[in-house]
Amino acid sequence: MTDTSPLAADLAPRILAGDRRALARAVTLVESTRPDHRADATALTEALRGHGRQALRIGLSGTPGVGKSTFIEAFGMALVEAGLRVAVLAVDPSSSRSGGSILGDKTRMDRLAREPSAFIRPSPSSTHLGGVTRRTREAVALCEAAGFDVVLIETVGVGQSETMVAQMCDIFVLLLAPAGGDELQGVKRGIMEMADLILVNKSDGDLKPAATRTVADYAGALRLLRKRPQDPDGFPKALPVSAVTGDGIAGAWGDMQALARWRRDHGWWDRARATQAAHWFEAEVREGLLARLKRDPEVRRAMEDRAEDVAAGRVTPDAAAAEMLEWLKA
Ligand code: GDP
Repeated sequence: MTDTSPLAADLAPRILAGDRRALARAVTLVESTRPDHRADATALTEALRGHGRQALRIGLSGTPGVGKSTFIEAFGMALVEAGLRVAVLAVDPSSSRSGGSILGDKTRMDRLAREPSAFIRPSPSSTHLGGVTRRTREAVALCEAAGFDVVLIETVGVGQSETMVAQMCDIFVLLLAPAGGDELQGVKRGIMEMADLILVNKSDGDLKPAATRTVADYAGALRLLRKRPQDPDGFPKALPVSAVTGDGIAGAWGDMQALARWRRDHGWWDRARATQAAHWFEAEVREGLLARLKRDPEVRRAMEDRAEDVAAGRVTPDAAAAEMLEWLKA
C-alpha cells in the first residue's frame, strides 16, 4: 500500500523507530479530512498494522475542574520516571465551540510536555464526534507503532465522548472530585458501569475527609453493580488520589497494571480488542455509507425534508427512517 504513498513510505519506518516528529506529522495527517491526506493516512496506518506492539490504552474521563490535567501531569511523570514512554491524546468534541480545547494549552502539563519520552496532542477541533474519534483511534495506533508503553486518552465528561473513549481503551478510569454532601454527584449509572477505576482526586488538606467519604460512597455503589466477567475480584474499585501531592498515584498505577495483567492472562484483553475492532469497522461503514448517500443532492434533500418533519413532530423518527429506507430502495 505504501507504494502508492511516498509520504506513508517515508513516515512508517521513522514512526517504528520512535521518531516523535514523524509521529506528530502522522497525527496531523490523520486529523486532516482532505481526500489526498486521507489516502496517505490510510496507507500509513495499513503499513503500520501488525507491527506487533501494544500499548496499555487508558481512558481518563472527568468533568472540567476535577483535575485531569494535573493528574495526567503527575501520573505521566511517574510513568516516565519508571522508564516508560507515555502518549497523551484528547477527545473533546466541544473544543471548537468553546475555543479552548482540553490539552490545548500545553502549559497545563509543562513538565510532561518537556519530557523526551512523552508525547502530548490536544484534541483536534471539530464539532463532529465521529471525526474526532476516528482521528483518535488512528492516533492511538500510530502511538503504539511508535513504541509507547502507555497511551492515555483524556476526555471531558460530556455527551457520548466517554462511551467512544471506553470503546478504544483497555482500561477506563473515571476521575471525580470529593463531593460536598453524600450525593453521588449525579454520575450516570452508564458511566459508572464503564469504569474500571474510580479515582477521587483532591484527597489532600481540607478536602481529605470529604474525599474519603466520597470513595466509600462510590465503593458502595460499585458493589451494587452486576459483576462483569472481565473483572478480577475487587474490581472495579474506588480509590482516593491527590494529583497535587502525588498520594495514591503509585497505588492506582499498580491497580491498573494488575487489572491489565489479569485480563491478558484470562483472554479478556484480546477479546475486548477484537470486539472493539469489529465495533469500529461497523461504525466506519455506517458513517461512510451515510456520507456517500448524502453526496447525492437528491438524497440529501430527502434526508433534510424528513429530518425537518421529525423535528416538527409531524412524524416519528422511526417511521421517517423506515420511509427513507423504502425511498432509497426505489
Ligand atoms: P481539569 O479541568 O480536569 O483538567 O482540571 P485541572 O487539572 O485544570 O485542575 C483544576 C483545578 O483543581 C486547578 O486549580 C488545580 O490546581 C486543582 N487541582 C487539581 N488536582 C488537585 C489535587 O489533587 N488537589 C487539590 N487540592 N487541587 C487540585
